[in-house]
Amino acid sequence: MSENTYNLHTGIIILNKDQGFVLINDSAQKILGWSEHELQKNFRDLSKLCSGLDSLAKLISKLLRDEKLPRRSELAIAGQFYNCYLSQDRDQYILELNPITYHDMDEATHELKRPIQNIKTLVETLIMGAKNDQVKLDEYLTKLNSEADRLANLVQDMLSLSRLINGSVDLNKVDVDVALMVDKQIEQASNRAQGKHIKLINSLNKNFILNADKKLLEHALANLIDNAIKYNRDDGTVEVVAEAGNLIIRDSGLGISDDDKSKIFEQFYRIKDRVHIQGSGLGLSLVKSIVDLHGWTIKVESKIGQGTSFVISYQ
Ligand code: ADP
Repeated sequence: MSENTYNLHTGIIILNKDQGFVLINDSAQKILGWSEHELQKNFRDLSKLCSGLDSLAKLISKLLRDEKLPRRSELAIAGQFYNCYLSQDRDQYILELNPITYHDMDEATHELKRPIQNIKTLVETLIMGAKNDQVKLDEYLTKLNSEADRLANLVQDMLSLSRLINGSVDLNKVDVDVALMVDKQIEQASNRAQGKHIKLINSLNKNFILNADKKLLEHALANLIDNAIKYNRDDGTVEVVAEAGNLIIRDSGLGISDDDKSKIFEQFYRIKDRVHIQGSGLGLSLVKSIVDLHGWTIKVESKIGQGTSFVISYQ
């Protein structure tokens, strides 16, 4: 079963390639709106049972075509969203459906509300008179600009994540020169790094190639390098290196406690004592979805105060 909360309301569907459905528990029947009669009549007829359930039908047909799928996915069924976890036990696939609670939705809207509220306060203060003071006007316009950027980044991240977990992104795999990609990213990040005197090191061998979707890999690496700079100390280092089938992004920064290690890949999770550093809490969820989509794994090794390594195993 998944590492996620498993409760009485979890819908469980077990499938195998030959017969299609093997087991559907009561909660799954309720979620999917299948009556006992309908189920018995059409148990072996996937297309009949799934008619009208487009997202589930798409997911199952991908499974049966042996396509690599993200282990986590989000499905919309009859207007309700579900977190869907996939696991495989020999030739059987286990799909767990957990309703996304209001708490998850709250989190998403809360994150959106914050920059909107800040923009509103800044505009109101300008209207109330600050606009007549040239210094304040400049200061508030700069702040408005950065809040608008934050909102745009947040919406972009939410959109990318939603596309990734809904499976509407098709992998376009090519041989990617990762060493070259990292060189470019280091160049783009150099201004941000210089501000904190952080040394960026590309230790990948020339022509280090991975078969990957170029855009998605670029996105994941940019996120990890950006985090390694953001959560670093002054005069720190960030190194990208390949060791024994692993691509590693290593930094000398704040580190991550054991307790937080299990949570940082969750959507919107941010470590409490560093929320003043700008971010959406979505970066690592995106990275994890991209890694999952490639059939790779990612883990984090870290010691508080000493630094962090994100280890992507690509073999
Ligand atoms: P954010 O937008 O907040 O950076 P992420 O999903 O990228 O969101 O990361 C989640 C949290 O994990 C961050 O808020 C940060 O506290 C922590 N984190 C991520 N990368 C690092 C790192 N390299 N070193 C220390 N902490 C990190």
